Amino acid sequence: MDSITKPVLCGFCGKEFDYTVYPMIHIPGDHKLKKKVLNKTLFFPTCPFCKEEIKLKPNCIYRNDSQKEVIIVTDSQDTDFETLLMTGDIAFNDVHSDEDVLAFIGGLYKRRVVRDVDSFREKILLSDNNYDDRIIELMKLSLSGILEKENCEPVYRIFLEETSGNQLEFTAIMGKRAPFEYVSVKAPSIVYTQYRDKYQNRLGKPEEDEYITTDQKWAAKSGLLKDEDAGFVIPL
Ligand SMILES: [Zn+2]
Repeated sequence: MDSITKPVLCGFCGKEFDYTVYPMIHIPGDHKLKKKVLNKTLFFPTCPFCKEEIKLKPNCIYRNDSQKEVIIVTDSQDTDFETLLMTGDIAFNDVHSDEDVLAFIGGLYKRRVVRDVDSFREKILLSDNNYDDRIIELMKLSLSGILEKENCEPVYRIFLEETSGNQLEFTAIMGKRAPFEYVSVKAPSIVYTQYRDKYQNRLGKPEEDEYITTDQKWAAKSGLLKDEDAGFVIPL
């Protein structure tokens, strides 16, 4: 696996230190790297000077050939990656051969683009646990509705944090501006099953182009929850 060591500027104490990142995580093979993303030891360096934990803005391709999926995290805000993934005209440094490119297009691979490390980790977590990320986005949208009603504050971001046994644990970051409040919400995994049974047949194949950016904006735009009460079937 290729690695890049580069200086990271600590936003807490202002000092600089070297940190190693990996532009590509390729499964099978890079299981250790995947684990490091999941347990937040990759892309979350601790500053050796002030010991604060930093969240990096990484650029990385996660490619899983057994599950046939590609997840790209990029700090670029333009939509070039989405376009490239749709047309197959991709020129990322880590895509080595024409065969790679062909494999990504034509709906053979499920493709996702995300813009921060939390979303990247979440997508990999979902993939590992065989959850449909679109169904999870619908659940998050519904949960946000409840949280906003209860706390009278907007949900800034919401993520699936952990799945263990028969529970899904979400973290919602609430508030209009910093300092944000972190709220942890648990839902039984049967709720996922209920959502899946209700909505999956209204969605196309997960590898279609329209799902490349599957996030909260997508969930809202899908309109699937618009006739539902916020939080329907989600017990808290
Ligand atoms: Zn520091």
